[in-house]
Amino acid sequence: MAVSTGVSVLIAASIVPILGGTYDGIGMWMSFACPMLISFPASAWQFHQSEKLRNSRDELAALHLHADRMHRELLLAHTALTEKARMDAMTGGLNREAFFAEFDRAAANGRAGTLLLADADHFKQINDTFGHQTGDEALMAIASAIGSTTGISDFWGRIGGEEFAIFLDGSDDEEASAVAEAIRRNIEAIEIKRERGRVPVSISIGGVHLSGHFSARQAMSDADRQLYRAKRGGRNRVELGEFAEDDVSAA
Ligand code: GH3
Ligand code: MG
Ligand code: MG
Repeated sequence: MAVSTGVSVLIAASIVPILGGTYDGIGMWMSFACPMLISFPASAWQFHQSEKLRNSRDELAALHLHADRMHRELLLAHTALTEKARMDAMTGGLNREAFFAEFDRAAANGRAGTLLLADADHFKQINDTFGHQTGDEALMAIASAIGSTTGISDFWGRIGGEEFAIFLDGSDDEEASAVAEAIRRNIEAIEIKRERGRVPVSISIGGVHLSGHFSARQAMSDADRQLYRAKRGGRNRVELGEFAEDDVSAA
């Protein structure tokens, strides 16, 4: 305000004499008063506008933060949903589609390891004797034993009603047979007791060792053949075989 008044006075004082007038009286007072009268409401208005602008900027920044948070929450929800869609709801393992997708990827990447197929023994009889709910409980206990006996880089899933598939990542023959045997033993040790007695839970396991160059389909069929041997051999047992090199070209 002082600057505009000074400028106004300076201009009036230098122009009025040039125009042949005298810088005094009402003219002089007006050169003082006018800038004061105009600049006060003008700066008040400008202050109000910049205050409004600052508030709008703050609101926009808050909206940005909110949108960022919503975006992150949506991403998390999407990841959780995708993960849930891959899971078997009852056992918490992968579902059939997800297991096969993982296994196909392992084959495509030439991952070495062992494929195990595990099928619960005489499960129809368990359902018939103890009821379907007890059967479900037994399936969950089987899955839990598989999950706790396998490693972090292995993956497993329920690929059928009472059938599970397990990929033991990078395991050689010896390790695979030790893990498969441990799974079998842990499942045999499951204690579910009912009025009619202890539920006899056991599984048969068939497996095939894969050296890194294999067809997923052929590996499944080879492991299935081993599983059949385990069933025929008396159940509650493990049968492991080697993936035949010829199998790749035959697949
Ligand atoms: P085997 O030792 O030859 O495998 O005999 P099994 O009785 O297990 O085989 P079978 O194929 O004759 O029967 C499988 C049974 O598994 C029949 C079916 O009702 C039961 N089953 C499949 N899925 C589920 C499930 O989600 N819950 C329950 N409780 N039972 C299931
Ligand atoms: Mg079966
Ligand atoms: Mg069965």
